[in-house]
Amino acid sequence: MLSVEEALTQLLADIVPLPVEEAPLLECLDRVLARDAVADTDLPPFANSAMDGYAVHAADTSGATGGDPRRLPVVGEVAAGDPGTTPLTHGTAVRIMTGAPVPPGADAVIPVEQTHAREGAVDLLAAVETGASIRPAGDDARAGQRVLAAGAVLRPGEIGLLASIGAARVPVHRRPRVAILSTGNELVPVEQVPGPGQIRNSNASMLAAQVLRCGALPVELGAARDSRESVHAALDAGRGCDLYLSSGGVSVGDYDVVKAVLEERGGIAFWRVNMRPGKPVAFGRIDGIPFLGLPGNPVSSFVTFELFARPLLRKLAGHRSLARQVVPVKLDEPVRGAGPRRNYVRALARWEADGWHAATTGAQESHLLRSTVAANALIVAPEGGGDMAAGAQAMALLLDWPESDT
Ligand code: AMP
Ligand code: MG
Repeated sequence: MLSVEEALTQLLADIVPLPVEEAPLLECLDRVLARDAVADTDLPPFANSAMDGYAVHAADTSGATGGDPRRLPVVGEVAAGDPGTTPLTHGTAVRIMTGAPVPPGADAVIPVEQTHAREGAVDLLAAVETGASIRPAGDDARAGQRVLAAGAVLRPGEIGLLASIGAARVPVHRRPRVAILSTGNELVPVEQVPGPGQIRNSNASMLAAQVLRCGALPVELGAARDSRESVHAALDAGRGCDLYLSSGGVSVGDYDVVKAVLEERGGIAFWRVNMRPGKPVAFGRIDGIPFLGLPGNPVSSFVTFELFARPLLRKLAGHRSLARQVVPVKLDEPVRGAGPRRNYVRALARWEADGWHAATTGAQESHLLRSTVAANALIVAPEGGGDMAAGAQAMALLLDWPESDT
């Protein structure tokens, strides 16, 4: 049996980021920049005012105070969006608004709060230094400067920066397309009322949602029967995807045909991992496309997706950080080990003044999907480590905590 780490290493070994496409800016949110982004202009592109006030020569404000103001004639006004080409001569002031270009010749802006408007003039109630309240051209970036490196994750701030350099379309790694296949004679579609011995196919929807959460695109292949022919046919329908994801049929039951099909179509890399839930996990390639066979029990599917499919999809999408954040948590209650296997216990982690704490979400059998509801973490009970007492410290994976590649 492989450890989780050994399985993951094998799984990721041959995975490389998908090809690059130019996508519209907003479709790049949470994706990975594939080439350096270079400023096409200075940012800001021109010197502009940081305040509403008056553009002046700083020297003309020298010695001004509330009790001894300097009076200057106001010879014009410049607002945001004006070209602002009229020069300022010594001994005069120009009314200026935030974001407006600083008139040529002006070397400071005095905020309106430090002035008193008069008829055709302004009293300056304070002295200002050269450069005061002026945002110089290129303060944020120079034209030609690299503002984002390839590999950057495009969060809202990065999207804003790209917008400011005119990147209407952005080179990003293509989103992985994931063909989702369920197996089981017992499965009926969600909208159907199950007959005797039947259950609704909940894994397909859950896995599709997990795929979407990774920024990848689910392609649902529906449910195959527990026969080789049916699994083969479903796989044919998934051609063109970047990953096959199946659930069910990878265990040791008489009708667990997925492994056999995988062997017929290209080869199996491993199928048992030393963990609970989710010991039976199959990995291989079909016609060169990676294939991940998750166990059918809903909780096992959920957890093995987190541990194996998610890092794989993140690598395909070009991310550098693949694994979830792991933090030390103090346990509210005892947590069962899983004997020789590593146990991933669904839990609710919360931050308190002295650090992270966690409580389990109740009964943990792998058919109890409600153990994942309200969980935001997986407590890790180490293999062979036995049970953990209330108050003990354990490690936990945070499921709702976006990792940062930056
Ligand atoms: P298997 O891994 O095929 O042996 O399935 C293990 C358990 O998971 C069985 O109780 C199945 O009925 C259940 N199961 C398998 N596939 C699904 C699915 N797509 N949705 C919900 N439950 C499933
Ligand atoms: Mg089955």
